[in-house]
Amino acid sequence: ALIKEQVGSWNFSAHDFSEDELVFGACQMLSHAFSMPGLEHWRLTPGELQTFLLACRAAYNSFVLYHNFRHAIDVLQSVFFFLLRIGALPPYGLTGQTSVTKSPIASLVTPFDALTLLISAIGHDVGHPGVNNFFLVKLNAPLAQLYNDNSVLEAFHCAAFSQILRRHWPAAFKDKQLRKLLISAILATDMGVHQKFMERMGSLQEKFYANHKSVDGWKPQDIEMYKTLICGVLIKCADISNVARPWKVAEKWTQILQEEFANQGEMEKEVGMETALFGGPPELGNIYKLATSQIGFMSIFAL
Ligand code: 5GP
Ligand code: MN
Repeated sequence: ALIKEQVGSWNFSAHDFSEDELVFGACQMLSHAFSMPGLEHWRLTPGELQTFLLACRAAYNSFVLYHNFRHAIDVLQSVFFFLLRIGALPPYGLTGQTSVTKSPIASLVTPFDALTLLISAIGHDVGHPGVNNFFLVKLNAPLAQLYNDNSVLEAFHCAAFSQILRRHWPAAFKDKQLRKLLISAILATDMGVHQKFMERMGSLQEKFYANHKSVDGWKPQDIEMYKTLICGVLIKCADISNVARPWKVAEKWTQILQEEFANQGEMEKEVGMETALFGGPPELGNIYKLATSQIGFMSIFAL
């Protein structure tokens, strides 16, 4: 009952739950999405859904401190919460919701898109090795060679996740439209393309205001393009939303991420390479430096 209630709240703290409990929470969120009309074709039975989630969980590395299954479910819950708030999912939970006035932009996100975004969130960091793209590129790692130094990890997460879908959710794997949106959503989580997204958001905003806060009369191709942009931005926001959680929850995420960065720093030292970490390896315990860098992250990216 606690998990059911928590997945509908911004106070959700993935730290407080075991992996089994997180699987249960994910089942709740996806089942809620399945209740929307028109999604019959992609629905899984509760048993199939559980098998799919256990396969996803097995594909995350438990030795990785931050980018593991817990982070995936945290991002899933963030996306779920945003979709509830913009009215792209029906009201959830006992308290329900004071009815949302849907923005015309939010209306671009259909039930099908909402389901696709939830699926994307679950798989968006599958197989993460606990080091960043710069590290792999600098080291000329096989994965960087395979993906030509471009969004190396994100391309890998997407390809690996596709195989899980092929095996455990064939209806989702086979659907061309779902696959297209899933790929663009996972690739959108590369912070290397953050600036590009902000620029596109700027042009969407301009076009929207110039058209009296409406999307009426927009060409179908433009609607499609901006819908894809909105979906990318939703998963991006969810992916970096740790700092927007209540302090106790946020603080813990920050700590864990710093420890993962510190591990990468150690590996860099071992192989004698220049650091691939933004701002250099963290000095664990240097609270002033951590605070400064978190304020930087919040003002440059999260806000
Ligand atoms: P992800 O790797 O999770 O798909 O993409 C999100 C990236 O944003 C993380 O790898 C990490 O580099 C960055 N990020 C997210 N939250 C924080 C934070 O609180 N502080 C810092 N410095 N970076 C963050
Ligand atoms: Mn992530």
